[in-house]
Amino acid sequence: MDKYEKVIELAKRRGFLWNSFELYGGAAGFYDYGPLGSTLKRRIEHIWRELYVIHEGLMEIETPTIGIEEVFVASGHVGGFSDPLCECKKCGEAFRADHLVDDIVEVADALSNTELDALIRNNDIKCPECGGDLGDAYEFNLMFRTAIGPGSGRAGYMRPETAQGMFVNFQRLLKFYRDKLPFGATQIGKSYRNEISPRQGVIRLREFTQAEAEIFIDPRDKTHPNFERFAGTVLNLYSEHGQEHGTTLQVTIGDAVKQGIIAHEFLAYHIALTNHFLRRVGISPDHLRFRQHKKNEMAHYAIDCWDAEIKTDRFGWIEVVGIADRTDFDLNAHAKTSKTELSVYIEYDEPEMVTSFVVKPEMGKLGPAFKGKAKDVADALKAMTREELEQDGITVVVDGEEFIVSPGLVKFTEETVKVSGETVVPHVIEPSFGIDRILYCTMEHAFNEEMVAVHEGRDGKESKDPKEESRIVFKLQSEVAPVQVAVLPLMTKSELIGPANKIVALVRDKGLLVSYDDSGTIGRRYRRNDEIGTPYSITIDYESLDDRSVTIRDRDSMDQVRTPIEGIEDLIYELVYGGREFKTAGTPV
Ligand code: AMP
Repeated sequence: MDKYEKVIELAKRRGFLWNSFELYGGAAGFYDYGPLGSTLKRRIEHIWRELYVIHEGLMEIETPTIGIEEVFVASGHVGGFSDPLCECKKCGEAFRADHLVDDIVEVADALSNTELDALIRNNDIKCPECGGDLGDAYEFNLMFRTAIGPGSGRAGYMRPETAQGMFVNFQRLLKFYRDKLPFGATQIGKSYRNEISPRQGVIRLREFTQAEAEIFIDPRDKTHPNFERFAGTVLNLYSEHGQEHGTTLQVTIGDAVKQGIIAHEFLAYHIALTNHFLRRVGISPDHLRFRQHKKNEMAHYAIDCWDAEIKTDRFGWIEVVGIADRTDFDLNAHAKTSKTELSVYIEYDEPEMVTSFVVKPEMGKLGPAFKGKAKDVADALKAMTREELEQDGITVVVDGEEFIVSPGLVKFTEETVKVSGETVVPHVIEPSFGIDRILYCTMEHAFNEEMVAVHEGRDGKESKDPKEESRIVFKLQSEVAPVQVAVLPLMTKSELIGPANKIVALVRDKGLLVSYDDSGTIGRRYRRNDEIGTPYSITIDYESLDDRSVTIRDRDSMDQVRTPIEGIEDLIYELVYGGREFKTAGTPV
């Protein structure tokens, strides 16, 4: 069993992840979250909200998961949101053509279909299922198409990303933020992609959760007011240049901007914030890097784009977040299709006096000279530059016909006017997170199998000769763990159950996630809680009734301390959220 299999086995057994529609044989690309998985997911989303919505002030909105066709025509999804599909001529199985050549080239998804066909032929790649010959690659649109309303209805699509819901609300958002840049919105919700052949379990889903922020910024100023916060943060950057030599740089965010590795501060800030989030949910820093898109891989409208990639045991480096400067592409595209101006008027701090060159054709003289063409000649003159007009003989072309305008027929002057602002189309910085992939990676990075000495006999009492046993432990961050504390009466006896329930109520009142567990020996209960990642367990024993104290066990070290029941809820809260060291929680047992 590789680590993926072990993690998925545990996740299924303990109620984190289940194959959807299992009762009917399942369907590739769909997973259910069980009770613990749903809670883990909500915990991860909660931290995302705390960082992006509360700290960054990017208010959350919620828009439909079905979109009308116009939206996706404008965004380019109807025309170009596709993957290369390649079918086996013998068994008819479908494959993503770029995945078939993944081992041969580094960035296979940047190749054209002709290049993919050539690679498949030259390397004699056959159908992985039956060994048959493969047909030519062709584009397959990944959107699920649907009809809105009865009959053939109005064409609609399940949204392939949450982003468009924010772009189409640009004007409303602009008003909400009182017409001032930068501002942004966030959305956490389901997205749908009809992936060609999702063979990577939870990594490639047909329905998945995205958390996206669309931040509208002034295109003339891409500095970030809070840049200093992260300027000293060191990241693993796998830049476009680094990829040519296979080297990952470890540089500070500040230096990366200074050296021109990352295009500008605003993008760099969001790369660093992504790093901050991923670390907080439990991604190991040495398994995390930021890979820059190569020029030929980047969407044509983006200036710079970085993917947060996490190293996994089975799939290698996988993309979990994309952070891009999408320029004014999305707003221009929707402005054009909806025939609505999507821009902001930016008032200058101080009005500026702007001197410009003004052309004044003398209509009184142009009329007799050019008759019916006089107006067209005048317009052509107005469109000319100063250099062109200062030549001895001015030639203008109207409807393909050349006219010579003698110098006396046109005057030019310089005019100075007061300008108090300008209209700009904002640029968009977009961090786009795939929550399901992040959740899987937190589980994989937290998964540990270790040999430990077990001091407990079958009856739950201390045994004289400890045994070596392997234990599985999910070392989830306490902040994301779906159960933060387990309350365990040593025996299923009413005199212990009563006080245990009182502790459950106290700790729940603090907003902590508590599970009460009284089935099986104490050792089995500890192991069950280790497997689901419960960071702390509180045991109530007969001594507790006399000394009003309980034992707390730390999941990772398996150390135990004795501590008074009085104030236990605050103590657990500090251990979970306050970074309090376990050593300080009581007297070692
Ligand atoms: P993209 O819009 O393709 O850049 O996707 C943004 C993020 O969504 C990616 O970084 C992934 O984490 C996630 N994502 C994209 N496609 C899938 C999928 N089929 N299954 C699960 N997550 C996905």
